[in-house]
Amino acid sequence: MSQPDVAQRIAELRALIRRYDYHYYVLDDPIVSDAEYDALMAELRALEAAHPELITPDSPTQRVSGTPASQFAKVQHPQPMLSLGNAFTTADLLAWRDRVLRLLGNDATIAYVVEPKIDGLAIALTYRDGRFVQGATRGDGEVGEDVTANLRTIGSIPLTLHPLDGIHDPDLPAELPALIEVRGEIYIRTADFEALNNRLAAAGERIFANPRNAAAGSLRQKDPSITAARPLRFFAYGVGPVEGVTLTSQWQTLRYLRALGFPVNQDVRRFTDFAEVLAYCEEWMARRDTLPYEADGMVIKIDDVAQQNELGVVGRDPRWAIALKFPAREAMTRLLDITVNV
Ligand code: NAD
Repeated sequence: MSQPDVAQRIAELRALIRRYDYHYYVLDDPIVSDAEYDALMAELRALEAAHPELITPDSPTQRVSGTPASQFAKVQHPQPMLSLGNAFTTADLLAWRDRVLRLLGNDATIAYVVEPKIDGLAIALTYRDGRFVQGATRGDGEVGEDVTANLRTIGSIPLTLHPLDGIHDPDLPAELPALIEVRGEIYIRTADFEALNNRLAAAGERIFANPRNAAAGSLRQKDPSITAARPLRFFAYGVGPVEGVTLTSQWQTLRYLRALGFPVNQDVRRFTDFAEVLAYCEEWMARRDTLPYEADGMVIKIDDVAQQNELGVVGRDPRWAIALKFPAREAMTRLLDITVNV
């Protein structure tokens, strides 16, 4: 492709991706499948990698997508809420591991935490002195929406944190944090999603394309009593700013969050051997259809926080984590076609 052709294709891809982002993140109503979207994003990334002079700061590859809706007050995230780089094959995962080793040094001792990637929407919950004070969506990663009132209606979100008196784990801080921002995912189980859509269809209302959009649409309601009537769940997978305690690894963080009273997925694992990481991902892929919720992949994270900081962030993706995306589902595309055509 000649340089002008490349520039034109890049402009086309950016325009398409921005349009699809708007439908997905703002309207909670996607008009293409995730696989189709991911393919456009991969094409854009490849063209930009070959022509770095054409990268602009507003390219969808450089920023977290999603616009805070004007109906909610805006919340500036004290630390940006990032996205995740994608891997689609074992070769992609090995390339990621090699890059990590190159950056940390070939003799570095590395542990990995592997977590299911439940498909919902990312939120940040702030607790001061053990009390829930604010909850926000990821938005564009820098600025999210204040959905505190809606989040208060979700049973699995603690309004006050457990005192840690009964917990005797020498590896965990013994105190409550003075401040902690807990990050995690709001999601809807598959059976609850189907029941919700049946209920909406019977009432003549618009149905949702998939559990992720149902979760996002249900959380971003002006009236918290509507959110309260929706079967939303939460699981915690990380932290933003923390004061008063020090957390040195992802594994310790997950156990601490569990001790504080947050739901943490039971299927998280820690490995020191990358072959075990690959085997666990494969085992999970086989289990995908038996899960009570929609999972779109696995997330692999470097366990040690000091190593995470050394690896840092590139664009909108941390170098210390990667999402292995499961292959696209046929049924998903069909469901979307039907939804878009009604
Ligand atoms: P992402 O969904 O690929 O990954 C980042 C998100 O993963 C985090 O924000 C968090 O919400 C979630 N997550 C779940 N479990 C996690 C865990 N254990 N640890 C850390 N994070 C976890 O990235 P994104 O930027 O939110 O969305 C991009 C994806 O959304 C695309 O790959 C595409 O599939 C889909 N998308 C689809 C359309 C469409 O029109 N169909 C449009 C935009 C985006």
